[in-house]
Amino acid sequence: MRAQPKASHFIGGVYVEDDAGAAFHSHYPATGEVIAKLHSATPAIVERAMAAAADAQADWAARLPVERGRILQRAAQIMRDRNRDLSELETLDTGKPLQETLVADAASGADALEYFAGFAPTVTGQTIALGRDMAYTLREPLGVCAGIGAWNYPIQIAAWKAAPALAFGNALVFKPSEVTPLSALALAEILHEAGLPAGLFNVVQGAGDVGAALVGDSRVAKVSLTGSVPTGRKVYAQAAEGIRAVTMELGGKSPLIVFEDADLDNAVGAAMLGNFYSSGQICTNGTRVFVARSVLGPFLEKLAARTGRIVMGDPLDEATQMGPLVSAAQAERVMGYIARGIAEGARLVCGGNAPGGWFVEPTVFADVTDDMVIAREEIFGPVMSVLVFDDEDEVIARANATEYGLAAGVFTRDLTRAHRVVGRLQAGTCWINAYNLTPVEMPFGGVKASGVGRENGHAALEHYTRVKSVYLGMGDVDAPY
Ligand code: NAD
Repeated sequence: MRAQPKASHFIGGVYVEDDAGAAFHSHYPATGEVIAKLHSATPAIVERAMAAAADAQADWAARLPVERGRILQRAAQIMRDRNRDLSELETLDTGKPLQETLVADAASGADALEYFAGFAPTVTGQTIALGRDMAYTLREPLGVCAGIGAWNYPIQIAAWKAAPALAFGNALVFKPSEVTPLSALALAEILHEAGLPAGLFNVVQGAGDVGAALVGDSRVAKVSLTGSVPTGRKVYAQAAEGIRAVTMELGGKSPLIVFEDADLDNAVGAAMLGNFYSSGQICTNGTRVFVARSVLGPFLEKLAARTGRIVMGDPLDEATQMGPLVSAAQAERVMGYIARGIAEGARLVCGGNAPGGWFVEPTVFADVTDDMVIAREEIFGPVMSVLVFDDEDEVIARANATEYGLAAGVFTRDLTRAHRVVGRLQAGTCWINAYNLTPVEMPFGGVKASGVGRENGHAALEHYTRVKSVYLGMGDVDAPY
């Protein structure tokens, strides 16, 4: 097996195995080849990980922020030095083309480590003058955090949670998706090689039951989930039982609005990026592309021509632009939506076929209406719905008419309109004349059912620290007794 890790779990700075856990495989989605065999975490493994995290956290929190940052900085450098190996591993585990993983996955994880390494030493509290007395605030770490990941950006998700958690003095127990278990282990190795003390970043494997065991552990102060809305509802409810803090990075059905004055080539390029990158398996994808009626014809023409030229194939070949879906189940699910779109009367402009294995062609539907299932549900595959609109108020109302609120995009040369429209869109992240760019400097997260909390940027501080207020009395106590 060409990507077999040394063991399934990484706890207390070492690889750990427990054969008693249910066995599962990781597959290379391009061929279905089994590339690794792992075991789900048993209760004993979860206990060991939680205990390791709890033991290590206090000493870590007592270190100078600049020391914590130095270790994360070193880890970022190792990630960059090993970018090709990490990218190949991610491609094997996810099926995403190497052309993408080389620039978007481990590299983005390294960005997060660098950003939070630099951020940690700048964190300060407030002093509050109260006449004779005063108060001040301290930013404290939360303690032990649990992270749970999705399968579309495995190492990025692990690093986006690990970087702020560790930088601000927390310990993390991370469970990758059972579909893509491998790269979180590589991140654990790198963090420890960079000098991270044992126990601060632990990886346990398994499916939802293992995730639930983490969320329910009384030592956990905070849960950060990246996953679907149905899972988010369960995890949020379970975390509420223990009054734990949460970050919920969930799904979406985001609108991308193309006004009549847009640069059409750029709008088409963005719509393609926002539907076909990572075979469409991106939470923020602009899967409802609203196009102004007057430019619908040329938009579809350009879109069909460029989509027809997308190179599908072996993800390990750097010329390949699109790989398979992550699993047979996901490919089937996506094909089910395509059949549903056709049955509901949407017009297939291009794609629509499964050319074999877990591959699905990049697919564009036109004449899509708001009530169609393909316009309402998150497909998480390379399926774009093009809808037509006539005026600004109408398109804003339709764009917002969804339970989701992760992202939105606007293409127009009229910047007054761009800001006006963005101001009215119900979305955590909006792009103007761009799409799907998520630099670590910018907060990221959803509104409505798409989630709570923010990753990245200064906003992440709120989600991995808490405020302690300290009142300092400087006179006699004024007691009425
Ligand atoms: P999923 O919800 O099926 O699983 C996500 C993770 O939750 C997995 O690790 C899974 O094992 C775990 N899990 C499942 N049930 C659980 C439970 N009851 N308790 C604890 N953990 C549980 O999602 P997926 O199919 O892996 O990923 C695709 C979804 O993730 C899409 O909806 C996508 O939009 C979303 N996503 C969101 C973001 C974001 O940042 N907003 C990023 C990537 C993916």
